[in-house]
This record gives sequence, C-alpha cells and structure tokens, in this order.
Amino acid sequence: MNCPKCSANMKVLRYHGYEVDRCAACHGLWFDRLECDELRLLDNPEILDMGDPTIGKKFNRKNFIDCPHCKRPMVKIEAEGRTDVWYEGCLNCRGVFFDAGEFRDYLDSDIVISFKKLSQKFGK
Ligand SMILES: [Zn+2]
Ligand SMILES: [Zn+2]
Repeated sequence: MNCPKCSANMKVLRYHGYEVDRCAACHGLWFDRLECDELRLLDNPEILDMGDPTIGKKFNRKNFIDCPHCKRPMVKIEAEGRTDVWYEGCLNCRGVFFDAGEFRDYLDSDIVISFKKLSQKFGK
C-alpha cells in the first residue's frame, strides 16, 4: 500500500496483535476504523506516532486525497472535542489516516479520555 499523502511505501507494524500501516517517509498512520477505536484504549498507543509533527502539519494541508485502499476520495473528520485536530477518513472502507503527530493529538481529545475513564471503570 502507498501513502495517500506522499505516495511512499507504507510499512506494516504489529502492535498488540493489530496491524498498523505507517508511511516510511512522512510517518503518517493508517488504521481501520475499528482498529483505531480499539487501539486508543491500549496502553501507550501514542508510540506508534513517532513522526515529526512539523512534517505532519505540512502534509495536513494536502486536503484532497484518495483512499489508499479503495481509491475513493477521503473526507476530513474533526476529532471530537478538539476543533484543531483533523484526520482523513474513507466512508467506503472506514479506513482512517493520521498525519504525523495527529494521532497523538487525537489521543488527547476529550472523547478518548472519557472512553478510557469509562473502560477503566468497568475494569476492561
Ligand atoms: Zn507518506
Ligand atoms: Zn477506502
């Protein structure tokens, strides 16, 4: 699979049994929607996002990208509770793409923090 932003190769990483794609050049991250929801509940998922946020911000300005999976145009999605954090999602295959640094910001968003609190409460 090639990076939807810079077209470099995406490398598959294994993390707690999940397969995550990370771009070898700009370090953008690709997840399945479901993976992304589950990953954020794990310990330290932010280590996946090791890219330079300055580079991520540059690529974040590249607005119209096609899904690397099904080649359809992706849409911008605002992280809940963080109007400054946007990531791209594919409405067809439900894949999501984060520029370098965005996944960390996403993990800082209110919705993720409240999810974490909730799952701790139920001893998950
Ligand atoms: Zn890239
Ligand atoms: Zn897609």
